[in-house]
Amino acid sequence: MTKDLAAFAKKNGVKYFMISFTDLFGGQRAKLVPAQAIADMQAEGAGFAGFATWLDMTPAHPDMLAVPDPSSVVQLPWKPEVAWVAGNCVMEDQEVAQAPRNVLRKLIKEAADEGLHVKTGIEAEYFLMSPDGSQISDEYDTAAKPCYDQQAVMRRYDVVREICDYMLDMGWGPYQNDHEDANGQFEMNWEFDDALRTADKHSFFKFMTKSVAEKHGYRATFMPKPVEGLTGNGCHAHISVWDAPGEKAKTNVFAMDPQSGSQTAELGLSEKGRHFLGGIMKHASALAAITNPTVNSYKRINAPRTLSGATWAPNTVTWTGNNRTHMVRVPGPGRFELRLPDGATNPYLLQAVIIAAGLDGIRTQADPGKRYDIDMYAEGHKVRGAPKLPLNMLDALRAFDKDKGLKAALGDEFSAAYIKLKTAEWNDFTAHFSQWEKDNTLDI
Ligand code: ADP
Ligand code: MG
Ligand code: MG
Ligand code: MG
Ligand code: MG
Repeated sequence: MTKDLAAFAKKNGVKYFMISFTDLFGGQRAKLVPAQAIADMQAEGAGFAGFATWLDMTPAHPDMLAVPDPSSVVQLPWKPEVAWVAGNCVMEDQEVAQAPRNVLRKLIKEAADEGLHVKTGIEAEYFLMSPDGSQISDEYDTAAKPCYDQQAVMRRYDVVREICDYMLDMGWGPYQNDHEDANGQFEMNWEFDDALRTADKHSFFKFMTKSVAEKHGYRATFMPKPVEGLTGNGCHAHISVWDAPGEKAKTNVFAMDPQSGSQTAELGLSEKGRHFLGGIMKHASALAAITNPTVNSYKRINAPRTLSGATWAPNTVTWTGNNRTHMVRVPGPGRFELRLPDGATNPYLLQAVIIAAGLDGIRTQADPGKRYDIDMYAEGHKVRGAPKLPLNMLDALRAFDKDKGLKAALGDEFSAAYIKLKTAEWNDFTAHFSQWEKDNTLDI
């Protein structure tokens, strides 16, 4: 694991480092630092005016420093003279409490103190669009059921192969790529890892995918619902908890507990796994404010049937076995899949909110409730009392604001800053005068 960035630069011919951090809206911000200056920057951090980003600061705040975490460094595979490194935000020797990577690091530490080490894998779906984003990039990609379309995936082979090659070079363990359920949509899968490493990879994957797409004359988007009527961009998270971090992990504590035996372990989830899931179920409406953070997110969940026949996105807070019509799927023993998050979710806050809700579930021995092994799209009406997911961003923000436990777990400073900025964004949206209003109100 890299410790000294100057030595890393010398060994690998790196000329510039991008010291990068992610703000509350998921924007990635960076300074380009010549290798010659990196030793000082590694000690001191790169300076930023926090107000110029989405972190809820004023222009009067002191400089914020992003201190690079050398263990995260990676050379840009498409431009190896530049290396990307994630930074931790610090102000006047204090960690910036609302900075997403700090929020996640704090929760990882809390979980570790209880002997719990969360590992996750994410599926960051994306569309390849025309450069101005107005239409999908492939005019021949028109099938009503385009999932796994062999002809269409090969028309974008140059992009998909280049990204996958880079993941192979970086040792991420990619194992499959496909055309997804919407025209113009793709998914690429790599191996799960510790939550912080997955968050860094998730950020880097977005940066890399956009960069490679631009190089080929396209625009990659992770927008939750970029094309009306087509399946949206999910970002499912698969979750398990282990006895140790990294390569030291030996036992999956979500896998069936040998002591309790198969009779008590539903779908091969241990008691701890069940309680963690219980925490996710309990906080689902509130955590949607983070897993589904934009106005557009609510066009993906609770959506009418898409052209392909299904949205593949959930509408209710329900769980099941290997069935993709609910919010949570247990695809096999020892893990579960949260299908709620979308492509707009902040990579660090996504992991943080999963750990926050899951830890609370374990501490309170939360019960996930009855599971429903039904086609939720066709038979959802048969389930009495299953909570609906928030219908819009404001409902989600209000649910989050009401959930004092979840807010405290993520940090009150973070939660207040997040709710404030996101509410302002909502207000900006509602102040926007739309054609719909005119069409529906002109003759009133
Ligand atoms: P699907 O499309 O069926 O939901 P994918 O193969 O696209 O599944 O993605 C599965 C993700 O789950 C991958 O990132 C994989 O590494 C991850 N994963 C597999 N097992 C576990 C586990 N025990 N804990 C966490 N993540 C896991
Ligand atoms: Mg200046
Ligand atoms: Mg998948
Ligand atoms: Mg998918
Ligand atoms: Mg999935």
